[in-house]
Amino acid sequence: MRLIPYRFRRSAKLGRRSQVTSMLLAFAVVVTLVTIFILTALDRIADYANRLDDGRSRETTLGAIQTFEEQLHATLNDYAAWDDAAQFVYADDHEWIASNYGEMTVNSDLFDVALIMDAHQNVLMAYQDGHPVSWPPERYFDTSLPTLFDKASTTGGQTAPEATGFAQTETGVAAVGVALIRQKSGELDQPPQGRRYLVFARHLDREKIEKLAQTYVIGGLRFVQDGENSGHTVEIRNVHGKVLTRLSWLSRLPGDLGYAEVRPLVYCALAMVGLFFLLLFVSGSNTLDRLKADEAAARHLAMTDRLSGLLNRTGFFAALDALVVESSHRNEHVALLYLDLDGFKEVNDAYGHGTGDKLIRGVAAGLKALVGDRAVLARVGGDEFAIALSTTDLARVVDALSDHILGFFDEPFVIGERVATIGTSIGVAISPRGRIAGEELVRRADMAMYHAKETGRGRAEYYRPEMDAQREERNMLEIDLRIAIERRELTVVYQPVVEASTWRLVGVEALARWNRNGYGPVSPDIFIPIAESTGLIDQLGLFVLHKACETIAMWPELKVSVNISPGQFRDPAFALHVGSVFRKTGTDTSRVTLEMTEGYFIQSPERARAALAKLKQLGVKIALDDFGSGFSSVGYLRQFGFDRMKIDKSLLDALSEGTRAIDMLNATVALARSLDIPVTAEGVETEAQAMQLRLTGCDELQGYLFGKPMSVEEIDEIYRGGRRPRAVGAA
Ligand code: C2E
Ligand code: CA
Ligand code: CA
Repeated sequence: MRLIPYRFRRSAKLGRRSQVTSMLLAFAVVVTLVTIFILTALDRIADYANRLDDGRSRETTLGAIQTFEEQLHATLNDYAAWDDAAQFVYADDHEWIASNYGEMTVNSDLFDVALIMDAHQNVLMAYQDGHPVSWPPERYFDTSLPTLFDKASTTGGQTAPEATGFAQTETGVAAVGVALIRQKSGELDQPPQGRRYLVFARHLDREKIEKLAQTYVIGGLRFVQDGENSGHTVEIRNVHGKVLTRLSWLSRLPGDLGYAEVRPLVYCALAMVGLFFLLLFVSGSNTLDRLKADEAAARHLAMTDRLSGLLNRTGFFAALDALVVESSHRNEHVALLYLDLDGFKEVNDAYGHGTGDKLIRGVAAGLKALVGDRAVLARVGGDEFAIALSTTDLARVVDALSDHILGFFDEPFVIGERVATIGTSIGVAISPRGRIAGEELVRRADMAMYHAKETGRGRAEYYRPEMDAQREERNMLEIDLRIAIERRELTVVYQPVVEASTWRLVGVEALARWNRNGYGPVSPDIFIPIAESTGLIDQLGLFVLHKACETIAMWPELKVSVNISPGQFRDPAFALHVGSVFRKTGTDTSRVTLEMTEGYFIQSPERARAALAKLKQLGVKIALDDFGSGFSSVGYLRQFGFDRMKIDKSLLDALSEGTRAIDMLNATVALARSLDIPVTAEGVETEAQAMQLRLTGCDELQGYLFGKPMSVEEIDEIYRGGRRPRAVGAA
């Protein structure tokens, strides 16, 4: 046997954990993605700002270099298109030339090399940094100079005879310009051969670069060393397009700077967003947890029986299904024991619901102790319990358990000051290797339980397939009986009751008959229990009473007995119904006897007493029926004030068995008579019995000897024919 593990709960927990993990994971992914997006965007903005700034720096640098060249050009123009120069240079005034050109090269920001050349590019004067120099210009300058010279000397018309560009010199890189020396107006009265040209060079040295950097606000402007790989540079080319040098500057990286500035803020914001979401998640998952817990509690509540604390029907079905599935995996059998308490309703009716509830709790606790943790135990109905267990050793375990349970009910329950004796009927159904599903298993166990009840209560019964057919047959019977009662198709027959001393007809017992449509007569021993268990007995009983009352109106000298089932008697309004029948039929109630068996009086003495008192107020007599068939006690006769006792046929059957039975019969009848309670003997079939019973003290006799239950007409015949049933030969 094995306890059902709480797999639901565990798997729910596992599911919960993986759910949390996946949510956390998703959350982390989202936060990471958002972070990446934002940082990438910022990076792009920074990069863009950097590139924008670098572009601007490049423009500025280019502009600075161009301005550097243009400044030289402007200076050159000033010095070459000059009326004084046109006069003194062509006059070969060396002094003037030296002081106005050559010596101007010293410490000059405008030009540091000055040459005067003739039309054939012969040097007439050469000065550098304030001193005359003697280097040949083709060596000192790269090939840019002759090109510039050609340009300046061949232009004419609108264009000024000037040309500038960058060139490599032995000193470094310089802006170089060549211009025809002429009058300010541009006029010159010299033949081309006699023309003179002014050459200026302005070196772009470190100092000048710095100055440019300052003027144009280009941070870190500098020459790029050969082979150096600087990201952003501006090239300076000579007139032939050859790269002379490159300038680079310090990228200000405003984007990076801005980025650096905002980065902590961004991180902060991201952290805050992350924190916010984390808090949201945590609080959300807490809420979720709480909801889950609430749901679990509600589930638990929905599966639990409040009164007993056991599983209820819903809980049981869930647990049983799980057990069946599990057992099929483990190759074990599932046994289901279905218990229905015997006599619980009577205790409940007699002592009230408080006591009934205590009894249920007591039973639940007892069963729990019996089955322990090894099985599923549930209260599946008012007084129904179910036990499910899985085992490989089926017969031994189930038989032992049902024996223990039946043994447990042998002892009476003590509830406060009360003692209640109840029993239980057990139905057992088996699901071999879990092959039969829970629902069917319950149906089968219920069926077997029903059988156990039918066949004597207080026992265990295994399900057998033929029970289905029986149940089916019974269901059909029930349906047909209901219809028959509704259509008033039942009939009533009457069995003669005679005076023991004279055999004179003194009364009749009304007995119900049912001729089932399409089947024929059904014995009352079959349909009365069905009517009792389905509640149809209320209608049926009143119908018989009504019929009997109507009938005896025609036999003023006869008494009538009508059978009353415990089920009818239990109805608090029963006496009212009976009274109303008497009123409607105008019956003299003193002629009516209601026959009841002792069962209800044993189980609910107080209620029975109260119900009896109400009936007696109507004026009817009450007979204790079937005395001697159960555990009859003469004590009841006195206790409840019965008006008559009817000895059961089974007691008569014992007569033939010997003296002990006769002694008992004698004693019983004697006791009843001593209490002034008259006795009727039933089931009298022989004259010998009739003699014996008369001697014993029975004052009335009933049995086939005097007549079987018969129709109104037949009784009427006897009644009119001198009231000696035997005279008409009714046997
Ligand atoms: P009961 O009240 O003990 O009725 C007497 C039963 O014994 C009747 O069976 C009757 O036919 C039978 N009987 C009478 N004399 C003899 C005899 O000499 N020999 C034998 N072998 N049997 C004899 P019946 O009519 O089949 O009724 C069976 C039971 O059904 C009744 O037992 C009674 O408990 C119940 N019953 C019948 N009609 C009604 C009814 O209207 N209401 C209620 N509540 N129960 C009824
Ligand atoms: Ca009877
Ligand atoms: Ca009887």
